[in-house]
Amino acid sequence: MPATTERNFADKKTMSIKKRSWAEPFKIKMVELLKMTTPAQRRKAIREAGYNTFLLKSEDVYIDLLTDSGTSAMSDRQWAGLMMGDEAYAGSKNFYTLEKAVQKYYGYKYLIPTHQGRGAENLLSQSLIKKGDIVPGNMYFTTTRLHQELAGGTFVDVIIDEAHDSQSLHPFKGNIDINKLDAVVKKHGAVKIPYICVAVTVNMAGGQPVSMENLKLLREYTSKHGIKIMLDMTRIAENAFFIQQREAGYSHKSVAEIVREICDLTDGATFSGKKDALVNIGGFLAVNDFETFEEASNLVVVYEGLHTYGGLAGRDMEAMAIGIAESVHDEHMKARIGQVQYLGEKLQEAGIPIVLPIGGHGIFIDAKRFLPHLTQDQFPAQALAAELYIDSGVRTMERGIVSAGRNAQTGDHYYPKLELVRLTMPRRVYTQAHMDVIAESVANVYKNRKKITGLKMVYEPRYLRFFQAQFEKL
Ligand SMILES: *Cc1c(COP(=O)(O)O)cnc(C)c1O
Repeated sequence: MPATTERNFADKKTMSIKKRSWAEPFKIKMVELLKMTTPAQRRKAIREAGYNTFLLKSEDVYIDLLTDSGTSAMSDRQWAGLMMGDEAYAGSKNFYTLEKAVQKYYGYKYLIPTHQGRGAENLLSQSLIKKGDIVPGNMYFTTTRLHQELAGGTFVDVIIDEAHDSQSLHPFKGNIDINKLDAVVKKHGAVKIPYICVAVTVNMAGGQPVSMENLKLLREYTSKHGIKIMLDMTRIAENAFFIQQREAGYSHKSVAEIVREICDLTDGATFSGKKDALVNIGGFLAVNDFETFEEASNLVVVYEGLHTYGGLAGRDMEAMAIGIAESVHDEHMKARIGQVQYLGEKLQEAGIPIVLPIGGHGIFIDAKRFLPHLTQDQFPAQALAAELYIDSGVRTMERGIVSAGRNAQTGDHYYPKLELVRLTMPRRVYTQAHMDVIAESVANVYKNRKKITGLKMVYEPRYLRFFQAQFEKL
């Protein structure tokens, strides 16, 4: 893979490291061939998919930026790990390997594997949330909030205001606003708040990190009020890399050390192995206190499987344990975030409005500014994702009004401030030449943006509608 010059990882206002060219710390051993399609074929495919990129067939996609979830390339060691699967129903060797990795890299005492992150969210929500409880968090995530609501809780957003401003250059837009949290505690009382859910990084804000300073302040505040901190630590190594690059006092610490320091400030975590941990399936709940572990252990057998496999094959647990270790290597993280940064800078050069600073797992195009002639009810981000696919076969996804869903009480759409198209980067999958093709396609769609029309929703599922909703052109 060709190297680039002067990739730097944080926004230019907060830091300025200029480095020599560098490239990925791996070479390619096996390739997956892709089908090339024509614009006419893609126009037909997206129409048949109801203008929802989730409903496209993967074989009709050229460069797949739908998600970084479960789409990463495993290493030869991880593939070797698959061969070491101990497929016993109970007490599989691979469970103990995974438990050891979780204790070593994250420091949590108790582990419950789950089939993926949302399985852990279900167990955590059902274990700790009572009807009428309030669960503050740094911006909602789709499955996280839904599980909180299904358990009888109400999510309250306590992220700093800068997170909702796509042009704010705040280096830690994932931070919790302690004053907002304090207002929630004063209004409802700490007894109504079983825990605060802290996402590292914040997916819905564009992969923005939380600072260590903010986490320390939060620990101080929550300890005083007897509130637990539960991490949504799906991209914790990416968050740690940003702390290393941007926060005073951390430039000489390794990603692994920073990851551990984050975990040590919290009480437990839900984890989707499909992101940081470089596996195609897997997740877990990890906690420090025995009562929560005991309750979740009771529930896991109902929803996932026995507590030593939680819906996973033994081989999947082995691959995840190896992936966790690989995810905290500094060189890996530098290449991972560096690739996202490279694409982001190309788009900026082309004048495309994107969320800044560039986040960890992808580029988020500001669809409100890309398509100012569309109202939010005409689903601008959904329409833009469809246009990008038609232009080049690049598959992206909507993160705006469709993803936000409806308020369960009033039935109205939630109207999020951010209306985004997400270009999410699988780890260790695409080359720099792919990045160039993507950037040229976005620039071409931008040139012709005035011709793009809005959409109307013709089918709406009841839950997490963005996955299966269908649209027609207005
Ligand atoms: C992906 C994700 C989840 C859910 O994990 P799954 O493995 O997809 O179930 C939860 N929170 C965040 C921030 C995520 O990105």
